[in-house]
Amino acid sequence: PKPARPRGRHFFANPGPTNIPDSVLLATAHHTVDFNDPSFAEVYWGCVEGLKRVLRTTQHVFLYTGSGHAAWEASLVNLLSPGDAILILESGHFSQSWGRMAQEFGLELRTVPADWRRGVEMEAVRAALAADTAHAIKAVGVVHNETSTGLTTPVAAVRAALDATGHPALLLADTISSLGSLDFRMDEWGVDAAVGGSQKGLMLPTGLSFTGVSEKAMRAHAESRLPKHYFRWSAMLQRPLKSFLGTVPTSLFYGLQESLRLIEEEGLDKVLARHSRLAGAVRAAVQRWSGNDGPQLFCLDPSRYSDSVTAVLMPEGGDADALRRVALQRFNLSLGGGLGPLGGRVFRIGHLGDLNEPMILGTLATVELAMRVSGVPHRAGGVEAALDALAA
Ligand code: PLP
Repeated sequence: PKPARPRGRHFFANPGPTNIPDSVLLATAHHTVDFNDPSFAEVYWGCVEGLKRVLRTTQHVFLYTGSGHAAWEASLVNLLSPGDAILILESGHFSQSWGRMAQEFGLELRTVPADWRRGVEMEAVRAALAADTAHAIKAVGVVHNETSTGLTTPVAAVRAALDATGHPALLLADTISSLGSLDFRMDEWGVDAAVGGSQKGLMLPTGLSFTGVSEKAMRAHAESRLPKHYFRWSAMLQRPLKSFLGTVPTSLFYGLQESLRLIEEEGLDKVLARHSRLAGAVRAAVQRWSGNDGPQLFCLDPSRYSDSVTAVLMPEGGDADALRRVALQRFNLSLGGGLGPLGGRVFRIGHLGDLNEPMILGTLATVELAMRVSGVPHRAGGVEAALDALAA
């Protein structure tokens, strides 16, 4: 027989989907409305304007019924043509997956390779762009926050590399696990397509994704020849809501209206500061656990630490999935697993979205407890280190 889930609140510490605030949950439980109804249009346009404020753009936003993969695909098929080269900056599993998607669409994949524990060197990005004197590279793809490795890549520095080399490629940024959690500035950083999803910093159920699109990208769109139908931006512009070729997931917009209200009530800058504070506590705990032979922060470059997810590398020979099973089955705590080649070697603590100190401390205490009962070597006192970080 299957063991019963332990009683008490299910603790969810995955890096997306994330915890949904009760008021957002309730808002999504809205009765069905006609998406052409003027009362819905008001909610819809309010959401689009709010999303633009979170993306920090005044340009275009197109939305899709689908998860982040849909917005990834939309950003490729709307901007590029068969045989175009795309330069993907390596950061982990998600940068690789986006690159593989590009190859399946017949694009020429070029990468700036990187050690997953450190991320790309900006000098290598500049060199790759400078070497492309024929400007075969039509787009540069960067995952702002790599959810698999817990490391960020500075999008502004990628913009600077494009500018310094006078390279005209479009800049595509995946903000799926950074939007509403880390500082992201679409217009200021000259991002041409910003890919986002509902289920992380926006604290919504999965199922809505979107792309912020620059004027420059709209001009590239007019020339793009990759096949597309549902994602075709020019066709969307003919629709009353300037998005969505099909049925609009109205209930998600009632939720989005509430989540944007929560973000603006707290203030975006304060939301980001909260993520930074809580992330610091998680890292303090992991660094305490490390000792000589304990688990370690997977990211080795402090300037690249992610404030929305921490990937933790198990001690040599340790099984991250066995530890996650103990956390879930005995203590009802769900942690993220290692992705791709990091499977079994890494577990991930998500700290983005609707989160506060008690939730972080509960998670850290339970991870420490799970390590203790599983015999994972670690130095005790991670929770104490997190308390110190939070009190400071
Ligand atoms: N990009 C990043 C950085 C992600 O974290 C994820 C999912 O976690 C994706 C892309 C893919 O998004 P989805 O799973 O919503 O399709």
